[in-house]
Amino acid sequence: MTTINTVDELNNFIRNSGNNRKSIGFIPTMGALHEGHLSLIQRAKAENDVVIVSVFVNPKQFTNSDDLKRYPRTLERDAALIEKYADVLFAPDAEEMYPHGSEVNVDVGTLGKVSEGVYRPGHFNGMATVVLKLFNMISPTRAYFGKKDYQQYLIVQQMVRDLNLDVEIIGGETVRAPSGLALSSRNMRLSREEQEKATVIYRALCHGKQMIQKGKTNVGKVLNGIKEILTQEPSWKTEYIEIRSIKDFSEVANVDSSVVVLIAGYLGEVRLIDNMEVTHSLL
Ligand code: AMP
Repeated sequence: MTTINTVDELNNFIRNSGNNRKSIGFIPTMGALHEGHLSLIQRAKAENDVVIVSVFVNPKQFTNSDDLKRYPRTLERDAALIEKYADVLFAPDAEEMYPHGSEVNVDVGTLGKVSEGVYRPGHFNGMATVVLKLFNMISPTRAYFGKKDYQQYLIVQQMVRDLNLDVEIIGGETVRAPSGLALSSRNMRLSREEQEKATVIYRALCHGKQMIQKGKTNVGKVLNGIKEILTQEPSWKTEYIEIRSIKDFSEVANVDSSVVVLIAGYLGEVRLIDNMEVTHSLL
């Protein structure tokens, strides 16, 4: 595996990596890598000739400067973790990605203004801007995104459709700790005890899914059931609980098609999100 820090070097690698028919699998990340990232990287390795992983903590997608400052940075450890699977680790700094004078940004439209977008205005535009830049630098055949960030996954798919990008977007299932807690780089900021407390999110999602599977189709009732579980953990502060259509991410009043249940909030100082699909075949 080669670590590359500049766009010029990356261009050279892409140009010299043999003929254009080689497929490239690309996994954009912000580092502090864990098994969730690894599952995407391993899948990319199985499905492509070349695997490129980027590690870039993208300032444009942070709405809170403190959150940006505290985001874990563990590049050496990340490199060791993915060495077996990746051909290139692309780890530019902010000046390399946004040289002085960069001004043009992607606007992802309405999908960026709901759910996470309400609490993190501008987040998805910043995310899409960096993802588009990385796609342009790498020209991947396939790019891998986790369903842990469900809205992000849908927005990237929409960007690919709307801007006619020539890349296949693959969604990977959420990888969880044995406790059910979704793996996240932000979990590093939680103590062991807090990580245990954060499992309330998973229990609440499972409860919501069970209610729907047992035939509760009224969204209000399902949301109340989920709230009841979440209030059992005093350290958890809910930001939102939503049930949205898997197809177009619209909010549903009745669960009669495949949906995703989404939860966001704070465990102490750390913001966590998670979701669970309830697909039609399970209803
Ligand atoms: P991040 O480094 O948090 O920006 O995440 C990089 C990619 O890894 C995104 O596509 C995430 O959705 C994905 N990812 C993060 N956590 C998980 C997880 N627990 N399971 C599956 N994919 C994940």
